[in-house]
Amino acid sequence: MRQTLHWMACLAGLTLSSAPTFAQDHDHPDRPYPYCGSPDFKTLGEPHFFGSPNECGLNSNTAGPEYDPYLVYQIPVVWQIIYRSDGTGNISTGAINLQMQMLNIDFRPTGTQLGLDTKIEFVMASSDPQGNPTDGIVRTQNNTWFTDSGNYAASLGWDPSRYLNIYVMDLGGGLIGYVPALPQNGVAGTPDDGVRMTYSAIASSQYNHVLSHEIGHHLGLYHTFQGGNCVNSSCQTQGDLVCDTPPHPGPVWDCSATTGNCAGQTLPIHNYMNYQDVGCVYEFTPGQIRRMRCTLENWRPNMWDYKPVGTDYCAPAVANSTGLPGELTARGSAVAAENFMTLKVKNLPGGEFGFFLNGTNTGVIMNPGGSAGNLCLGGGSIGRYNDFTEIFLTTAAGTGELELDLTQTPTHTQPAPVMAGQTLNFQAWYRDTPLGTSNFTNATTVMFL
Ligand SMILES: [Zn+2]
Repeated sequence: MRQTLHWMACLAGLTLSSAPTFAQDHDHPDRPYPYCGSPDFKTLGEPHFFGSPNECGLNSNTAGPEYDPYLVYQIPVVWQIIYRSDGTGNISTGAINLQMQMLNIDFRPTGTQLGLDTKIEFVMASSDPQGNPTDGIVRTQNNTWFTDSGNYAASLGWDPSRYLNIYVMDLGGGLIGYVPALPQNGVAGTPDDGVRMTYSAIASSQYNHVLSHEIGHHLGLYHTFQGGNCVNSSCQTQGDLVCDTPPHPGPVWDCSATTGNCAGQTLPIHNYMNYQDVGCVYEFTPGQIRRMRCTLENWRPNMWDYKPVGTDYCAPAVANSTGLPGELTARGSAVAAENFMTLKVKNLPGGEFGFFLNGTNTGVIMNPGGSAGNLCLGGGSIGRYNDFTEIFLTTAAGTGELELDLTQTPTHTQPAPVMAGQTLNFQAWYRDTPLGTSNFTNATTVMFL
C-alpha cells in the first residue's frame, strides 16, 4: 500500500508540473526523477492534535519572528540500516558519519558555506529507548524489508516521538527518499514516522542533500512548488504556506533557470525543498526555518533538546553500577538574565536519589567520604541543590534533571543570583545502592553571559 501511495504521488507530481519537458530532457538523462516520493500531504487528512495554536498547521502557517533561530535544538538520530542477505545496502559507518556531517552543514552552515543557520542540528543517538549506550546505528538483514516492504518500522523503530528514525534501504525505481507524511498530518510519533532513504544516496556526491530535503518534510515543510501555482493570493494558506519562497508550478531542475514560466518571477533554485541537482541547493529561507522550529516546538516537542552550553571536565566520570559513567549536561541559555537552564543527568542507576552541586572553583577530590567517584569542585565554594524540591530521583532509564532558578542559586553561604560574566561549575552526586556507595558525574563549566 505504501509503495502504491508514493508511486502515485510521484506520478501526480510529474503531471502537476510539465511531464513532457522531463521526458524530453536529454541534456540530463541521469536526472534523479523520481527524486522525492513523499505524497501530496494535503490529501492525507487533518491530524488528531489538540491544543496547538496552529501557527504551523497543515493548511496555514503564521510562524513569526518568535520562531527565528536562537537557542540550538539538537535532534537524536538513529540510523536503521536494512540490508539484503548478500550484503547489499549495508553501508559503512564512515558513510553514515560523513552524511551526518553533510546534513549538519546544510542545517548549520558556517564560514564561507552558503545558506542560513537554522540552529537545528543532528546528533547520533547516544542512548537507546531503554537508556543503554548506542552508536545510533542499527543494522538489520531482511530481504523483504530491504525493498521497503513489510512492517519494518513498527518492528525496528525507536520511539518516533523522541528519535528521528532514518530507514536506509532500496526504495526502487530511482526513488531516493520520502517521508510518509508531515507531522501536521498526524504521523508524528506513530510507528510509521521517520525518513526513508535509498542506500546508494547516503553520502553520495550527487544526492547527499536529499536527506536534508526529506528532513525538511519531517519538520513540516512542503515542496516549494506545493499547489502548483504561479501566484498565491495568500502565502500563509496556499502553496507551501511560507511567504518568502516564491510559488512555482513544479520542480525546477535547471540550476541556471533564475526566472521561470510564471511571468519571469524568481525561482527558488537554491532551495532544499525544490528538486535540484546537488551543486545548486544550499538554503532554507527564514520563513522555512521558522516553520521548522515551530513544528519542532509544537508538533515534535519530545524530539529535541537544547544543545549543552557547558564545557565538560572531569570526564568521563567513574563508572557506576550500570557499568557507565554518569553524564551531566547543562542545557538552555547561558544568558543569566534569561533564567533558562536545566541540568540533566543520564547513565545513572535507576530509582536512586541525588542532587546537583555548583562551585566557582574547580578541583579534584578523589573518593570523598568513601564515594566511588570524584568531586570536581574546589572546596569552600560549593553550593548544593539539596532542598526537597531540588533533589532528584532517577527514572528507570537512569535519568534525572533540575530546572534551575538562576535568581536564587545556592552557594556555600546563602542563595544568590547568577550574574552575567560569572563562571559556574556544575556536577551531580548520587547514591548507587547496588554498590553500597555513592558516585559523581562529570562536571561542566558554564560561562554566563
Ligand atoms: Zn519532497
